[in-house]
Amino acid sequence: MSLTRSALLAISENRWMRERGPRLWFVRRAVRTFMPGEAFDDMLRAAGELRPLGIEAVFTRLGENVAAAAEAAAVTRHYVEVLQAIASKGLRCEPSIKLTQLGLDLGTEQAYANLRAIAERSHETGNYLWIDMEQTTYVDATLELTKRLKAEFPGVGVCLQAYLHRTHDDLPALVDQGIGVRLVKGAYKEPPELAYPKKSEVDESFFRLSVAMLEGLGRNNGFRPVFGTHDTGMIARIRAHAERAGLAARDVEVHMLYGIQRAEQGRLVKEGAVVRVLIAYGTFWFPWYMRRLAERPANVWFVIRSMFAG
Ligand SMILES: Cc1cc2nc3c(=O)[nH]c(=O)nc-3n(C[C@H](O)[C@H](O)[C@H](O)COP(=O)(O)OP(=O)(O)OC[C@H]3O[C@@H](n4cnc5c(N)ncnc54)[C@H](O)[C@@H]3O)c2cc1C
Repeated sequence: MSLTRSALLAISENRWMRERGPRLWFVRRAVRTFMPGEAFDDMLRAAGELRPLGIEAVFTRLGENVAAAAEAAAVTRHYVEVLQAIASKGLRCEPSIKLTQLGLDLGTEQAYANLRAIAERSHETGNYLWIDMEQTTYVDATLELTKRLKAEFPGVGVCLQAYLHRTHDDLPALVDQGIGVRLVKGAYKEPPELAYPKKSEVDESFFRLSVAMLEGLGRNNGFRPVFGTHDTGMIARIRAHAERAGLAARDVEVHMLYGIQRAEQGRLVKEGAVVRVLIAYGTFWFPWYMRRLAERPANVWFVIRSMFAG
């Protein structure tokens, strides 16, 4: 892991910086590349602009490591309300939620009660619910709660991280239960005992897991494979494999983050792939934004440029 990446990830977890970073005007300006705005309506507007291009949205209200039950309950209420608003507008935006935003640090039962309330509304409104994956300390609880939720509601998916050694063992049970999997490379700072340290190893792991996920489609049990990446070479490799396996172009569903690889998103849609863009909003964007900078340290130049832009 490069020094810059490592430093940015350390900043993302630093409480002092989490509080003060968002007040820096040039950081606020630079974050706009990845976020259409802090309000739910900003997300809706951005989703509306993507729809004519054949791209649907996934949305997330940024927040993590919520330390007060009342705050976790407020986050839950927010998701329940916006799910209703989305359904009444006839939109197709899928929520993606972090369990530490629902109170996982306060206890699994508390987080599950909140998650269940959101899943209930998601189910009633015919939506699909995604659960994000956070640091390794949360992986067991995240998978356990996802499986529990899937036993109650059909449209449930979870994120898996290709950089973790364990993911190869975690995947089969999820496929068996028809739980959707959004595969990503992994965004946190993890030790080499748990995560592949080299990018080339992470990429190979991603491809091997992708192949297994495409095979999972044959189960016809609702399993939904999603590839959450901006890596154009990797997407081409997965699509070529899918074609050789006799799958249709639309069997490859790619999710990307708002503001990244826009041209590639349009190209994939034209070629028949399913594309969704994850749009984030909310005021607690600092750690999330630092992880975006860490993924591509050249992005730090956006921040520096925004200090001098008029
Ligand atoms: C829809 C979605 C959901 C995600 N959910 C999670 C989650 O729940 N848990 C988790 O740990 N991680 C999550 N991630 C982040 C993920 O783990 C990676 O950190 C991130 O996607 C970068 O990896 P990559 O696959 O794009 O490939 P990389 O090999 O890192 O990048 C490939 C190319 O994409 C472009 N690119 C990548 N990142 C950026 C960036 N930030 N800015 C500009 N260009 C960039 C660059 O051109 C780069 O060369 C999610 C990512 C996506 C797309």
